[in-house]
Amino acid sequence: MRYLIISDIHANLAAFEAVLDSAGDFDKIWCLGDLVGYGPDPNECIAKLQQFDHLCVAGNHDWAVLERLDLEDFNPDAQTASRWTQAQLTPDNCTFLQSLPTTLIEEGLTLVHGSPRQPVWEYVLYPSVALPNFSYFGTQFCFIGHTHVPLIYRLVLQEFGEFCELIQPPLNGPIPLGEKRLIINPGSVGQPRDGDSRASYAILDLEHRTIEYRRIPYPVEETQQRMEKVNLPARLISRLSFGW
Ligand code: ZN
Repeated sequence: MRYLIISDIHANLAAFEAVLDSAGDFDKIWCLGDLVGYGPDPNECIAKLQQFDHLCVAGNHDWAVLERLDLEDFNPDAQTASRWTQAQLTPDNCTFLQSLPTTLIEEGLTLVHGSPRQPVWEYVLYPSVALPNFSYFGTQFCFIGHTHVPLIYRLVLQEFGEFCELIQPPLNGPIPLGEKRLIINPGSVGQPRDGDSRASYAILDLEHRTIEYRRIPYPVEETQQRMEKVNLPARLISRLSFGW
């Protein structure tokens, strides 16, 4: 089975479509949350995901529009985008977001948005945060999103204890998953934050036990124009050009 692993689409349909067009054959989508928030196409992105066999977990922005999180915890631009998204979502799409679990265990893998320790909120930005999180899931691999940065953390056992390696995965070639435990982040489809504006995603091949990271350009201006039209905050519009 080949899985398209995506996260943090953030209502950016142009980016999502570019990923789907470039992904080639896959059997199923695993989506790691934050389908909505920030971008101009929340309903369209949910509808697009639903066209495919998929599994999806809830992200903090999905919860924010449902008011399961306090919007005051968001910065002002994110609050504005969340309120706008709330007003756009159809009742069916609200129900869909409400139905999303925070953790899934599938095919012997764990899927969460933030971290296995705090599935909705925690940012796994550093090996020092990844290391304790290996105790919070029982499978060999855990997929996370939330930071919008494509990375792999590998747990290494040594004579004097455990430590966590950070791997910046190379693009466009299958990487063997190996025997060690991994926390795997495919990066963000709709709002990358690693200085590269291209949409980020990964293809997991469980038969061959590999993962392949990819970046794909998409028409950023198309998304930006749609955001301008509905008066989403200027900072959220400009950041897409730079990938931060
Ligand atoms: Zn996000």
